[in-house]
Amino acid sequence: MLANTSFEETRIAILENGRLAELHWERKSSQNIVGNIYKGTVENVLPGISSAFVNIGFDKNAYLYISDVLGDKGAAIDSTLKKGQQIMVQVAKEAISTKGPKVTMDVTLPGRYLVFTPFQTYVGISKHIAEAEERQRLERIVDRLVATHLGGKGLVVRTEAEGATEEELELEVKYLLAAWQQIQKKFEDTPPPTLLHQDLSLALQIARDIMSEQVYVYMVDSKDVQKEVIHFVEGFAPELKDRVRFYESKTPIFKAFNIEREIVGIRETKVPLPNGGSIVIQEAESLCAIDVNTGRFTGSKSQEETVTSTNIEAAHMVAQQLRLRNIGGIIVVDFIDMRKASNRQKVMEAFAEACKADRAKIRILPITRLGLIELTRERKRMSTAALLTSECPECRGSGRVLSSETLRIKIQREIFEMTGGRPGGSIRVLLHPDVAEAFRGQHGVIEKNVQRSIKIQIDPQLMWEDYRIILE
Ligand SMILES: [Zn+2]
Repeated sequence: MLANTSFEETRIAILENGRLAELHWERKSSQNIVGNIYKGTVENVLPGISSAFVNIGFDKNAYLYISDVLGDKGAAIDSTLKKGQQIMVQVAKEAISTKGPKVTMDVTLPGRYLVFTPFQTYVGISKHIAEAEERQRLERIVDRLVATHLGGKGLVVRTEAEGATEEELELEVKYLLAAWQQIQKKFEDTPPPTLLHQDLSLALQIARDIMSEQVYVYMVDSKDVQKEVIHFVEGFAPELKDRVRFYESKTPIFKAFNIEREIVGIRETKVPLPNGGSIVIQEAESLCAIDVNTGRFTGSKSQEETVTSTNIEAAHMVAQQLRLRNIGGIIVVDFIDMRKASNRQKVMEAFAEACKADRAKIRILPITRLGLIELTRERKRMSTAALLTSECPECRGSGRVLSSETLRIKIQREIFEMTGGRPGGSIRVLLHPDVAEAFRGQHGVIEKNVQRSIKIQIDPQLMWEDYRIILE
């Protein structure tokens, strides 16, 4: 794992067997305060609207509704809260326009598999964990952990806990408890308003979610961040702290490991497959469509065999690219048609297997007779392409621009209109370099059509569809 921290962003690359598998991105501009925990002072209690306002250090006081107040549930708000009282609150919703943030006293601490709910006493298990056997296994483990570590406090088991070992769950309980103790201590020690706890920075989130025996090294290009990560890892897996290293070389870390080049590749729609053929990835707002294209057929195998093996290669590549590009939501993969149901099944199985490396939840529907596979992939963040890019002004997001032939005909027509069709004299046409190149072979045709001598000139400043016609 490689972390690059610079001006306004943190980027983390995860390499598996030397190949880039995941990219994570955090920008300062998109950081939010939801989940932050503050020590605040009650400024106003308004029994008429069952609400209170809490100063947590922002321009606008935070809003606290009675259902988010701890204590006797039936009581009026002014019997549980008093003006001037110091309380711990967590931001549930960000401030919108004139309103301050909405807060709750029912603080929760999310981990990788579990959410610690220190003011609750029940244990809940995510509905998304469907198998009765797995639910029972988790319940048994969590009941023991709550009794031994948490003194009966509440815990919610997240969907991510599916398949987690008892050891992993225990590690997390310890970590959450330590975090909670720190928050309480800070609450005792510091005057309000003060920030007690912030959801982790990306560098720490990655450590929380991924750091394990399987991570060979976590290399960080900032001494401060490295220190922070080490301190954090010591809290739950001290035996791994030596794997958090400082990257010292002068070559920028992402350049040294060839990641910058791979990031450029993420924007390309076409990805070649190892033995010919390719996949074409098209991300739209509502769904992502992926096409599989054949390579050249080799003589030794039958067409059906070649197609099946291309599809299997594509299945691996699609799984890899979804993870790398962090594409979420609905995805449709159009594999090349296969005649035999058994071959369609083979491709389906290869795809399901390849998706196992992904930490995001994936649900795959059975392959259709036309070779389509539909799937959904959990969307935690924006896709990398969506984060890095905005709609192309040149093609207005369509991915297509006027062909050079269309441009040539358009330009000829304009010249004709400018000259009124009168022959003689010369004309200079300034073009985007690639369009100029495409026009070169057509030079005679253009001159003949417009009845003037034409000089084609390159102007690197021009966009593909732009041109200038100058009468001389
Ligand atoms: Zn475009």
